Amino acid sequence: MMMNAFTYIFLAVLFAGIVLQWSLGRRHIQHVSRHRKSVPEEFSLEIPLDAHQKAADYTVAKVKLGFYELITASILILLWTLGGGLQLLDSAWRNPEYSPLVTGTCVILSFMLISGILDLPLSWVRTFKLEQRFGFNKSTLKIFILDFLKNTMVALAIGTPMILLVLWIMANAGAYWWLYVWFTWLVFSLFMMWAYPAFIAPLFNKFRPLENQELKQRIENLLERNGFTSNGIFVMDGSTRSTHGNAYFTGLGANKRIVFFDTLIDELSPEEIEAVLAHELGHFKCNHIRKRISTLAVVFLLGFALLGWLIDMPWFYNGLGVSESSTYMALLLFVIVSPAFTVFLQPLFSYISRKHEFEADDFAAGQAQTDNLIKALVKLYKENANTLTPDPLYSAFHDSHPPAPIRIAHLTTRTA
Ligand SMILES: [Zn+2]
Repeated sequence: MMMNAFTYIFLAVLFAGIVLQWSLGRRHIQHVSRHRKSVPEEFSLEIPLDAHQKAADYTVAKVKLGFYELITASILILLWTLGGGLQLLDSAWRNPEYSPLVTGTCVILSFMLISGILDLPLSWVRTFKLEQRFGFNKSTLKIFILDFLKNTMVALAIGTPMILLVLWIMANAGAYWWLYVWFTWLVFSLFMMWAYPAFIAPLFNKFRPLENQELKQRIENLLERNGFTSNGIFVMDGSTRSTHGNAYFTGLGANKRIVFFDTLIDELSPEEIEAVLAHELGHFKCNHIRKRISTLAVVFLLGFALLGWLIDMPWFYNGLGVSESSTYMALLLFVIVSPAFTVFLQPLFSYISRKHEFEADDFAAGQAQTDNLIKALVKLYKENANTLTPDPLYSAFHDSHPPAPIRIAHLTTRTA
């Protein structure tokens, strides 16, 4: 095995990330367990003790499964790189002597397929052990397997031409190939955002127009007041897989639509659903989608520029267990190894996301939805068994949404 200074840097960073995430998880478990005995006072009227304790147990179980996922993912990174997995794949596909473009595409596709299969056991545990144990799972083995097959087909159908195109650009576009690849990625992402709700989501779920007339009228009034046009309000059969409820805006331009999980419609009153939607609308009104796309575009531009430099550095390949440099290996190594480095940016992204949540809550409050939104949130926290007492550090690192007490306290100040 070839090792160089970069190998040791990579190993040190990977290890630091594991230690960091592990200790945050331990803190979270301890914090939640310490507060398991009693419901926080401000929720004592709405949340019974047994629901609070279920949330605590569910949270602890999720973190523990997260430990297994963290260790498995880290071992897989090591096996693919220093363990010689990628090298093996590369040698195997170089044997038949296809053109470099075809060889590269085959290597990347086989990597995707093998990774997908290796993910299955833990994904099965999450659905049929963890979610099942707490009464959230509605999926069956048949749905689970069909989902995997459909996901694989979609990834092959969309991924193959995309990989061919990217590898072709890398080989033919000269020194600034990374700029062209970045632009291709940007166009592709926007296209997928536009195409997803209409062409891909229906492969997995059934969508029907919202029938409840009272609710529909409320929503249409809300949208009209805010000058928002969409391509429809839909109800999705989320209950075929899980009892967790949600609502979201999806799509781009004229293809924008509003989707409610059927589970949410069953749990919340029309006024509460309207308040949840006002919050979602807040994300649009505050340009959060546009800001998120712009941030990602900048991050990816930096990433591709970095790859443009790394691709010519033999130590980058040798230090990660690959003997021969190639466009596709540079791409694969970069995709596999970068999460070990970017995990340290997680608190920044979580912070931005929580800031946007507060802004969307402010927008909903401005639409006179405060009380209904609070009621809806408390119900959702209870139904989804979200903990009311997360560890502050763990939450600052991981949480895309503010913890319940902080979020509701923020909304309450808006009514005063
Ligand atoms: Zn939100």
